[in-house]
Amino acid sequence: MIVVKVGGSSGIDYDAVCVDLAGRWKAGERLILVHGGSGETNRVAEALGHPPKFVTSPSGYTSRFTDRQTLEIFEMVYCGKMNKGLVERLQRLGVNAVGLSGLDGRIFEGKHKDSVRSVEGGKVKVLRGDHTGTVERVNTGLIELLLGAGYLPVLTPPAASYEGVAINVDGDRAAAQLAVALRAEALLLLSNVPGLLRDFPDESSLIRDIPANDVERYLEFAQDRMKKKVLGAAEAVAGGVGRVVFGDARAGKPISAALSGAGTVVS
Ligand code: ADP
Repeated sequence: MIVVKVGGSSGIDYDAVCVDLAGRWKAGERLILVHGGSGETNRVAEALGHPPKFVTSPSGYTSRFTDRQTLEIFEMVYCGKMNKGLVERLQRLGVNAVGLSGLDGRIFEGKHKDSVRSVEGGKVKVLRGDHTGTVERVNTGLIELLLGAGYLPVLTPPAASYEGVAINVDGDRAAAQLAVALRAEALLLLSNVPGLLRDFPDESSLIRDIPANDVERYLEFAQDRMKKKVLGAAEAVAGGVGRVVFGDARAGKPISAALSGAGTVVS
């Protein structure tokens, strides 16, 4: 089993990802696609007059503050436009894809965090009404049912809280938990960069290999949201996933390239 997570930043070539995925699926490989949608969500939120608000925690992690209205916009884009756009591409390529969010069948489950600590102007503030959380459990029953019947699952946040509330979760870490739960041989985290860069944004500073027992040391090179990918990779390899690759989804055959060693390989 290979779990492919494709991000939501600008520059990602979704057609290239789907063509590559469809070819491998038809050749008999078992794959699952997980996707993001942050770039498009930001655009739609601006257009709807509810611009995104990002908060930085005291430990330096940036996340989207997700009030109820933001959650609904998030769902429109992730579960609607992005998810159906990918399912449509795959259907056109002859793959019987089924798009689901983590809420459906409680595929992704976790704790709802209602408040977030945010550093603003050097001070730490507590913001309430946040609909976020982290995936702690993956319920694989529905996924196995679909795979067993020949459908390719296309999954996206949000997740379900233990109380059944929709929560915005990080897609990279959700994909990592999924890969662990399915005992995947590989997790591919595809984005709009060649991999983890030692000196971002200098693309010639690509880090080629990271030893599995030393992933967290590489957090120092990752800024902003790249940190979540490094954390996800650490969780995946610690949970038994054979390898994690940070790969480039801007062109070519992104899945095949990552599987043949392009990008940053954590193993
Ligand atoms: P996606 O939505 O595609 O999953 P993110 O935007 O969450 O991707 O994370 C990828 C982004 O992380 C890159 O576009 C880049 O701007 C940023 N980044 C920060 N530090 C690094 C780094 N050291 N190497 C590569 N990218 C980095």
